[in-house]
Amino acid sequence: MADALSSARDTLRRVFGHPDFRGLQADVIAHVLDGQDALAVLPTGGGKSLCYQIPALERPGVGLVVSPLIALMADQVAALRTAGVRAARIDSSLTGPERREVFNALDRGEMDLVYVAPEGLASGALLDRLSQTPLSVIAVDEAHCVSQWGHDFRPDYRRLAVLADAFPGVPRIALTATADSRTRADIIEQLRLPQAQAFVASFDRPNLILNAARKDGSTAAMIQRLVKARAGTCGIIYCTSRNDTEETARSLRSQGINAIAYHAGLPPEERSANLTRFQREDDIVVCATIAFGMGIDKPDVRYVIHADPPKSIEAYWQEVGRAGRDGEPAEGFAFYGPSDRQLHARRIEQGGASEEVQLVQRNKLNQLFGLFDSLACRRAGVRAYFGETGAEPCGVCDACKHQGEAHDATEPARKALSAVVRCEERLGKQRLINHLTGTEPDGPLETLFSSRSTFGIGRDLPKTGWRRVLDQLLFDGLVSDDPVDGYTLLRIADPGRTRALLRGEIKLMMRENPSGPSRLGRDERAARKGARGGSSAPAAPVDADSEARFQALRAWRLSIAADSRVPPYTIFHDSTLRTLAAADPQSLEQMGALSGIGEAKLARYGAAVLGVLAQHRASAG
Ligand code: ADP
Ligand code: ZN
Repeated sequence: MADALSSARDTLRRVFGHPDFRGLQADVIAHVLDGQDALAVLPTGGGKSLCYQIPALERPGVGLVVSPLIALMADQVAALRTAGVRAARIDSSLTGPERREVFNALDRGEMDLVYVAPEGLASGALLDRLSQTPLSVIAVDEAHCVSQWGHDFRPDYRRLAVLADAFPGVPRIALTATADSRTRADIIEQLRLPQAQAFVASFDRPNLILNAARKDGSTAAMIQRLVKARAGTCGIIYCTSRNDTEETARSLRSQGINAIAYHAGLPPEERSANLTRFQREDDIVVCATIAFGMGIDKPDVRYVIHADPPKSIEAYWQEVGRAGRDGEPAEGFAFYGPSDRQLHARRIEQGGASEEVQLVQRNKLNQLFGLFDSLACRRAGVRAYFGETGAEPCGVCDACKHQGEAHDATEPARKALSAVVRCEERLGKQRLINHLTGTEPDGPLETLFSSRSTFGIGRDLPKTGWRRVLDQLLFDGLVSDDPVDGYTLLRIADPGRTRALLRGEIKLMMRENPSGPSRLGRDERAARKGARGGSSAPAAPVDADSEARFQALRAWRLSIAADSRVPPYTIFHDSTLRTLAAADPQSLEQMGALSGIGEAKLARYGAAVLGVLAQHRASAG
């Protein structure tokens, strides 16, 4: 066993150029090399791919990888090929001759890994064809898709149970980044993996800096500021509506940002063109619905913004987890409000799932909003949700940074609650804010209520401040946002606590100062003041020489990538370029010793990289 692992480690160094396994990789790989089934739950960026790629290279036969959205796997296959691995995908996009070529290579035993989509296996014909080929390992990626308890159920995944009978004796490994214990149990059952050993890594993502903020009137402007401050890096902005993705992309473009939209309603050509651009360009921002993302393994996404919140912590972790797969610092910003929660709740109700499933979904929704609205560390909150005990506060999220910061909003809360009562619970949020701030009445109801004692009692706060106060009351359950005759009206939801507040027996505390700039706004301003080069994303300090070498290497990489029509990161990751820039190697030998540079890449690009560095040295010296 120790022998098997040391041979695997040699392969890791020779082919992938990494000095050693990390996290649970060695355990998982040893287990699979031993011919046994496994369930690997490793965080995004945790290196799941190697858990089956190495066994596929080590064991006789070809590795079969089942992965959703096979089109996106094209880049993974391209990356493997640059590393000298014989990989291919089999899907409906192949022409007849291409398909035959792949099968011929399989027959001749000249293939290490094939990627297929779950629906491809469902046809049966492909399964028959593959059953004539000795397999080394079967990997089911994004395995949570098999579970209706997970957040991304795909009925096609259920059929993958047939793999158990079709390939007896071939070790199978299910992989996912997000699965709570119920989803894990479901994966084991649905994929028929009763003997599988579960390897569950910590859900910590030390390089992710999380922020969550309630929406207010200026959220769209805030998002623009966040993006502009990070110009030149890659980001993803998630929106609920297709229209918003296009709108956001358009307005970013008008400000000189390289932004595109992505959603399921785009014409197929435009969709795949945008996907390709996202994979290939290194300064691009995609404004997308959740149709975008699964299988996206671009390692250098520097931030993920949720312009609208998702519906569970799993979905959030999966989506924000697409930032910083390369391990370099990356940021997440989530914007949410009470009406988002209501929208999701309504969708659950209309979804038509069984009562039991609806209950689970409602719980997940509440847990997500609980996490966003909590005063405790966000990363620790996620880890606790996934069952990790004793996770320490991260120290870098907005909740950690603003620990202990609270604002007494008892007085404005009393005014707002009185106004709800005086206006007979007949106004919605916007009209109540107009009433509180004494805005000129513009309807019969407003005119009627303008004679009430609460009219204009809130002139001391700006409208955004009132919005914050009302959202706090909504989140605290003191008021509710009820649909009545097509309007959403604010009502007293907790008469007992409302009375206590009005009598001054209890207080209302808020994270945000109702009358000042938002926390996020302050953080951004402070970061911009402290940052060099316009980016507020924290980065390891680098000296100017090393940075200049990095930029030279990046430009070289972009031109090579464009020539060979592959994404830049399949040539070298940013992290590898940084290592190269810092080490400034002067020989192939020095270069080969660096992390991330395997034999094939050294042979293919080594001379060119040394050339770029030498030229840089000459021009700088
Ligand atoms: P996942 O699928 O779990 O999100 P990947 O398999 O895409 O993660 O790997 C994430 C990144 O980590 C990749 O850039 C990969 O090259 C790198 N990586 C994986 N294993 C190692 C290792 N043992 N040492 C160094 N880097 C690694
Ligand atoms: Zn924290």
